[in-house]
Amino acid sequence: MNVLTALVDAEPTSYWLADPGRPEAGGALAGRVGCDLAVVGGGYTGLWTALRAKERNPSLDVVVLEADRVGGAASGRNGGFCAASLTHGLGNGLERWPDEMPQLERLGRQNLRDIGDTLARYGVDAEWERTGEMHIATEEWQFEELREEAEHAAELGWRPTLLGPDEVRAEVDSPTYVGALWDREGVAMVHPAKLAWGLAEACRALGVRIFENTRVTSLQGESDGRLRLGGAYGVVSARHVALGTGVFPPLLKRLKHFLVPVYDYALVTEPLTPEQRKAIGWAHRQGLGDSANQFHYYRLTADDRILWGGYDAVYHYGNGLRSELERRPATFATLAEHFFTTFPQLEGVRFTNAWGGVVDTCSRFCAFYGTAYDGRLAYAVGYTGLGVGATRFGADVMLDQLGIGEDEGRETERTRLRMVRSKPVPFPPEPLRYGVIELTRHEIARADRNAGRRGLWLRTLDRFGLGFDS
Ligand SMILES: Cc1cc2nc3c(=O)[nH]c(=O)nc-3n(C[C@H](O)[C@H](O)[C@H](O)COP(=O)(O)OP(=O)(O)OC[C@H]3O[C@@H](n4cnc5c(N)ncnc54)[C@H](O)[C@@H]3O)c2cc1C
Repeated sequence: MNVLTALVDAEPTSYWLADPGRPEAGGALAGRVGCDLAVVGGGYTGLWTALRAKERNPSLDVVVLEADRVGGAASGRNGGFCAASLTHGLGNGLERWPDEMPQLERLGRQNLRDIGDTLARYGVDAEWERTGEMHIATEEWQFEELREEAEHAAELGWRPTLLGPDEVRAEVDSPTYVGALWDREGVAMVHPAKLAWGLAEACRALGVRIFENTRVTSLQGESDGRLRLGGAYGVVSARHVALGTGVFPPLLKRLKHFLVPVYDYALVTEPLTPEQRKAIGWAHRQGLGDSANQFHYYRLTADDRILWGGYDAVYHYGNGLRSELERRPATFATLAEHFFTTFPQLEGVRFTNAWGGVVDTCSRFCAFYGTAYDGRLAYAVGYTGLGVGATRFGADVMLDQLGIGEDEGRETERTRLRMVRSKPVPFPPEPLRYGVIELTRHEIARADRNAGRRGLWLRTLDRFGLGFDS
C-alpha cells in the first residue's frame, strides 16, 4: 500500500478536538462587564492564569475572553508531551542561562508535579500518563549527542537511562533505531484537548466567567486606571489584564517583532490491533522523539492509535496565518512515508486524522514575559512548541508580575530569574524575515544530512543566541 492510500480517508481536523466529549461552546461577551482580572486567550496560558488567580485569591472576579473555542488553537492540536522543561530542553537552557539551570529545572519539575496534582484535585480526566519520553537516535552522531545530554541531565539531578541498539529495540521495535535516552521522570503524556476543557471546567467551578467566540479587538487604558478591552458585542473593564494570545496578532504592538507563526503537522492512525501492537512492542507507552534537528515526535493514544508529528516546520511569508494552511498534503505524505520507514511492520495501517497547528515561535525557543500599562497588564508568549507544561509556569509569572494573590508583592523567585527578565532577539522585518527563516530551514536540513555538522550560517546564529525551531 502506498502512503496516499493510507492517507486518503484522513479527516483534516485535530484528532483531539474531534473527541465526542467536546463541550458545547460557551456564550459570547455581550454588553459591559467589570472584573478584577481579564484574561485574553482560552488556551493553556489563559486557562492556567484564570485558575491560578482564583486559587491564589478566591475572591477575585476573573473573566476569560477567547476569540474562538477554548483549546481550539495550539492547545487542542498538539502532541500532548507535557514536559518539565521550562527552557525548551536542557541544551537550549544551558546555552542561555547556565547558572540558572539548576533552579529552572527544580521549578520545572515542581511545575510538572503541580499539573498532575491539579488534575487529580479537580477530577480532570485528561488521560494523564507519567510515562516519560525516550529520545531516539537513528544515526551514530545523534547517539553521541544523547550521551552528552545524559551527562548534563545527571548533573542537574535527572536519572535518564542510555539504551544501546538491542535495548532500545526491545522497548520499541524499529529497524531505524541505533540507541536512545529514556527520561522516565521529566515528561507526562496527556490528551491535549481534554486538558484544556478540564481546566476550563475547573475555572468555571471556581466562578470564572469564560466567554467564547469573543475576539478582543481593542485595548486601551482608561482615566480611572482600569483597562478596557473591546469585542464585537461588548466591552470589559478590568483592573488587570493577562495576555495568553499565543501567536495571534498581538494586542500589544511591541510583541509582533518577537513572534513568528510556524506551522507544525501531525497524523493519527486508526487504533492498532493487538497483533500490530505486539509487532512494535512499546509496552511502557513512553513518548518518543527522534534526535535530528528536523525531528518527529510520536506517542500512543489511550485507545492505541499512534500520533506521529513534526519534521516540517513551515513559515509563510508575512507571518501568514490562515486556516487553509492547516492542511498541507505534501507534509502529510512526507510524515506518512517516514512513519512506514520507522515501523515497516505496520504496513497497511491507515491514518484517520491529519492536521496542522501554529506554534508561537520566538528566537530563543521558550516563552518570554513582560508587562505594560504601568504593570497592570502582563503577557507570556513564545513557547515555541514546548508549552503544554511550561504554560502553567508562565501563568504564575504573569500573576506574580501583576501582584495578584502573592503576599510578597511582585518580586518572587520566578520574576527574579534572568530567564524571565530577558527578552529574545527580535526577528527582522519582511522581506528579510522570510529569507532568513528559509535559509535557516535549509541549513538545518543540510546539517541533518551532514552528521549534525552545523555550517557557517547556523554557527553564526548560535553565536548570537538566535534560532528557528518548532
Ligand atoms: C501541532 C503542534 C504540536 C505541538 N506539540 C507539543 C507537545 O507535544 N508538547 C508541548 O509542550 N507543546 C507542543 N506544542 C505547543 C503547545 O501546543 C503550545 O505551546 C501551547 O498550547 C501554547 O498555549 P497558549 O495558550 O499559549 O496558546 P494557544 O493554545 O495558541 O492559545 C491562544 C488562544 O488565544 C486566543 N486569542 C488570540 N488572540 C485573541 C484575541 N485578540 N482575543 C481573544 N482571544 C484571542 C486564540 O484564539 C487561542 O485560543 C505543539 C503545538 C502544535 C501546533
